Amino acid sequence: MADQHTSVPTVALNSGHAIPQLGYGVFKVDPAKTEKYVTEALEVGYRHIDTAAIYGNEEGVGRAIASSGIPRDELFITTKLWNDRQAGDEPRAAIQESLEKLQLEFVDLYLVHWPAPANGNYVNAWTTLVSLNEAGLARSIGVSNHLVEHLAQLEAATGTLPAVNQLEIHPAYQQREVVEWCTSRGVHIEAWGPLGQGKYDLFGTPAVADAAAAHERTPAQVVLRWHLQKGFIVFPKTVNRERMAENFALFDFALSDAEVEAITALDPQDGSGRVGAHPSELN
Ligand code: NAD
Repeated sequence: MADQHTSVPTVALNSGHAIPQLGYGVFKVDPAKTEKYVTEALEVGYRHIDTAAIYGNEEGVGRAIASSGIPRDELFITTKLWNDRQAGDEPRAAIQESLEKLQLEFVDLYLVHWPAPANGNYVNAWTTLVSLNEAGLARSIGVSNHLVEHLAQLEAATGTLPAVNQLEIHPAYQQREVVEWCTSRGVHIEAWGPLGQGKYDLFGTPAVADAAAAHERTPAQVVLRWHLQKGFIVFPKTVNRERMAENFALFDFALSDAEVEAITALDPQDGSGRVGAHPSELN
């Protein structure tokens, strides 16, 4: 069993806690097989797992953690509040259900999954997360898919900024405005869909392919390394154990500044590179 997790750098959050910059994401991982894949990811060396209530696989994550024997303080577990639980005191009931499924007393990070603005409840959700954090049910709290207009509302209502904002980010879609707003305020960026979810030919672009050839690495490793050098937190998803190991082997090479810039230049900056839902439209 590999024991490389100590080589993963951590990022200091505004909560005072540290998050491993690389983790394993389980979006679209079959709930019936999640225990097996998370167990394999832990064997490869991952210690940071990103799940969500809506993924339906928190129980599998919980079973893998429980049977791993890994001390709780070596793990970093994130889950997320779904859009239909944002009103009233619902976030409290929702986190308690997630904790039960995960077999945990607290999560390391709890996120409001989407602002779902048409429902009008995301400020209430955030206010309730602040109290869940104070109650010790979530060591750090944050948001996902929140744009500047949403973040400004949270800040005005509570004075508490999220520890992270988890956003769709990959070379063709870098969301510079919201990234700049967050990073200038110490809100760290988690990049979901870091490989573009395989939905466009990212690996074949010369910027990625040339760097892969130069470093004798795979295109996926180059893209993930680009994320790390941009300061983003990533948790690529794969159910293939060899790729789990490939995606974990990112700390013994570095892209040059010119290589990073060439990949950064892949963003058309008109929003056309987006592969997922738009935060204003998903409710
Ligand atoms: P991703 O960019 O990680 O892409 C996953 C795809 O890339 C899979 O099809 C996989 O087969 C392929 N892949 C993985 N490693 C590879 C490799 N080494 N070589 C070639 N192909 C490889 O997309 P994702 O799963 O959507 O994002 C990662 C994580 O982000 C998710 O698992 C989830 O935890 C999180 N996420 C969050 C949100 C949100 O709204 N907050 C949305 C989507 C995903």
